[in-house]
Amino acid sequence: MNASGWTNRCPKNPGAAHFEIVRSSVGHDVADRALAALAQRLARELPQTELVARLGTVEFGLVVSDPSDPSVDAAVAHLQSLLAKPIAVEGREVVLSGSIGIVRADKQYKAGVEILRDAAVAADHARAARATGHARFREPMRARAVEAQRMESDLRHALEAGDQLSLSYQPIVHLEDGKLAGFEALARWRHPERGLVPAADFIEVAEQTGLVIPLGLTVLERACAQLAAWPKSTPLGVPFFVSVNLSARQLGHPTLVDDVSRVIEQTGADPRRIKLEITESAVMADASAAVDILRRLKALGVGLAVDDFGTGYSSLSYLTRLPVDSLKIDQSFIAAIHGSVESRGVVRVVTELGRLLRLETIAEGVETAGDLEILRILACDLGQGFLFSRPLDPEDATSIIATGKVERRKTL
Ligand code: C2E
Ligand code: MG
Ligand code: MG
Repeated sequence: MNASGWTNRCPKNPGAAHFEIVRSSVGHDVADRALAALAQRLARELPQTELVARLGTVEFGLVVSDPSDPSVDAAVAHLQSLLAKPIAVEGREVVLSGSIGIVRADKQYKAGVEILRDAAVAADHARAARATGHARFREPMRARAVEAQRMESDLRHALEAGDQLSLSYQPIVHLEDGKLAGFEALARWRHPERGLVPAADFIEVAEQTGLVIPLGLTVLERACAQLAAWPKSTPLGVPFFVSVNLSARQLGHPTLVDDVSRVIEQTGADPRRIKLEITESAVMADASAAVDILRRLKALGVGLAVDDFGTGYSSLSYLTRLPVDSLKIDQSFIAAIHGSVESRGVVRVVTELGRLLRLETIAEGVETAGDLEILRILACDLGQGFLFSRPLDPEDATSIIATGKVERRKTL
């Protein structure tokens, strides 16, 4: 398989998270044996002229004399093809994906460990960029790595201290009549010096470092406790749900199902009113493992939604097998629903797919009355976005519940 085939296989797929999903699907023994077999394959098949070092679970460093030399592309493609070939272990086929950091063997390096450090920085970059699976080391990457490390230690501290982290609740409404359908719980981090850190930034750091496991558990506990404290339905008699995001890494974590079960029991939240959101790319990173985990979550009674739908290369055959209830149409399609015939087409197809598979459709990022009009014509079920409300603190969310309806905002 060529390099591009390799990258298509794992579109938005951080290597370590993927490995954890593989590990929880095939078991630790098989996954570890697959890794050992992969190492042997690399040692056997890579030419002696290429210096390859394994830096992390599935991170590799390629040390070369001239990173811009075309032969490096061939070496990367070769390494990627070796990584992409399924590994047979105990009658099972395991596919591991990895990221590659390319570094120049330069005189500035005084020790081998420094070369490997920069190769690891580049491999991290390749993983975070999620595009080609490999990256050449450049000096600014080191500053970003230092910044990410600082963010990691601050986030670790925030998790211990507890009071810097909070949840916002963004209303989700029935598009037909504007009645409240639920809330999405969104993590907020108020850093003592930097102020509010965008969720996308710190969630990415949390995902890469594994901190998303304790963070995700805290979010789930708080959201479930809040749900249990709120009334069971609005004065209009409409029950409402609270949805909580689960990251790829959480999906692959061995104690996920037990953790969710325990939180439901401890908080007394009604599982039928909890929706767990999993991004399409996390599901499709290893769809067969995801089907198994999602089935076990579903057995707890919770609802499941595929988040950012339309961005993650879904396999339709898997989609019919996923035990999910809702598709959340990615906000990029809603943002372009007026200007782009293609985006409007995607939204139409997803709403039709939803009807066919009996899945609820939720539009993300509804910002204008015009967006709403088209979504109503397409008979999309629910919507979420600044047109209705920004994410709210729990008190303001409680006021919305008290009326049961979300008034559209005149200005964003
Ligand atoms: P998401 O799950 O797709 O959440 C929706 C994001 O869109 C939120 O950003 C929300 O504030 C934003 N949004 C809502 N309406 C509009 C709109 O009309 N226009 C625009 N432009 N944006 C809108 P936020 O809170 O910054 O979160 C970003 C992402 O971070 C989330 O995307 C989710 O992937 C992740 N995230 C947030 N909280 C958590 C969490 O507790 N756990 C995990 N694993 N991920 C989280
Ligand atoms: Mg979400
Ligand atoms: Mg989303």
